[in-house]
Amino acid sequence: MARQIVTRFAPSPTGYLHIGGARTALFNWLYARGRGGKFLLRIEDTDLARSTPEATEAILKGMAWLGLNHDGDVVSQASRVERHAEVAHELLAKGAAYKCFSTQDEIEAFREAARAEGRSTLFQSPWRDADPGTHPDAPYAIRLKTAQDGATVIHDQVQGDVTIRNDQLDDMVLLRSDGTPVYMLAVVVDDHDMGVTHVIRGDDHLNNAARQMGIYSAMGWEIPVWAHIPLIHGSDGKKLSKRHGALGVEEYQAMGYSAAGMRNYLARLGWSHGDDEFFTDAQAQEWFDLKGIGKSPARFDFKKLENLSGQHIAVSDDAALRHELQEYLVAAGLPALTEAQADGIERAMYCLKDRARTFPELIEKAHFILAERPILPDEKAAKQLDTVSRGILGSLTPQLQNASWTRDELEAVTSRFADQHGTKFGKLAGPMRAALAGRAVTPSVFDMMLILGRDETIARLTEAAARDDD
Ligand code: GLU
Repeated sequence: MARQIVTRFAPSPTGYLHIGGARTALFNWLYARGRGGKFLLRIEDTDLARSTPEATEAILKGMAWLGLNHDGDVVSQASRVERHAEVAHELLAKGAAYKCFSTQDEIEAFREAARAEGRSTLFQSPWRDADPGTHPDAPYAIRLKTAQDGATVIHDQVQGDVTIRNDQLDDMVLLRSDGTPVYMLAVVVDDHDMGVTHVIRGDDHLNNAARQMGIYSAMGWEIPVWAHIPLIHGSDGKKLSKRHGALGVEEYQAMGYSAAGMRNYLARLGWSHGDDEFFTDAQAQEWFDLKGIGKSPARFDFKKLENLSGQHIAVSDDAALRHELQEYLVAAGLPALTEAQADGIERAMYCLKDRARTFPELIEKAHFILAERPILPDEKAAKQLDTVSRGILGSLTPQLQNASWTRDELEAVTSRFADQHGTKFGKLAGPMRAALAGRAVTPSVFDMMLILGRDETIARLTEAAARDDD
């Protein structure tokens, strides 16, 4: 039986979950979920000076918003330092690593001399082959005995074969002289112990892979499949800055993008499946593979994100949208909807979700539900309520009063009224929108009338007809 796929996301909790990290998490999630595998989460919190619990919190929240559920418990790398040290000692015992007693001053002196002589400044420890009988009783670091000739080839699923000459790698420190393990060792030990089969991460870690392979080989552990994905650039091809969208994912939630749209957009950011732009999670999970990841940096494009967000809102389930809308309001620091307001919006969702690209747009379309009488028209809508239009509304209202409240009947009454007045329905729509919603752009007037009901509709039309402030 084929081995179960295990991927992981391993963020350092030194800041928010930025967009590049979210994409890395998504790729790992898609890869595992589409193959019946496991997706694990490890918080790389060994840098105690820079790691904060708030950052861990922000990462977990961001992943929860994006729906990137992980399997098992969150692993804290810092809680595993003893295991990391144990592996360093195991390597020492095997003869794959050695005790290095060189002090910082000695290392610096070595480098200076190398620079002066034009030699490589990679440190060559005099202790690599020293007789243990000559070891002083002094603090030591444990260094990996890296092969001195030959090359390390990273078979990367995105970058292809990347060859690094071993003489360009020094004998890296595994355990510092104060007994603390280095990050590179921690990653390998954790990935191995967690059974990670595929490492999908940013290509800023490509060079680390060569060093990490040295540890895998020395321990006789199976090397995972590597996939180093290119970074995300701004729409102008330059390094991603705040202006380009290098924001924490919670800011995207607060801007009102739908989580499904965000997932879809992030999946397309650097990965493709033919010409497919819009797809569901199920499709993404089925289609996602490492072959589809491009080699050049993807460009972040707010327009595309907005567009996909809208397409996902349009096909989302009404109750799910109601829930996501409430979560958006909290994330944006806006007042939550009352149950009655949320009920009204859910009933109207069929006509709101159509062309709302974001939740702020959806709320704007729902304005007619949230607004209370007297409906105050905004500037554009007020222009629709001149004396003539108010007169027209004044004559239309009694006819609606007696209509049965169905779409067919409401349409019939209004078009008959338009005919009688030698006008077109289009001419009535503007004043009606202004009266019912106080806006020039709204859902269809019939949808609004059906959702508001007879009494509220008549009251709003009557009030608008009676306005005297033009
Ligand atoms: N903690 C690293 C980072 O945040 C990721 C390490 C890895 O994926 O191997 O960049």
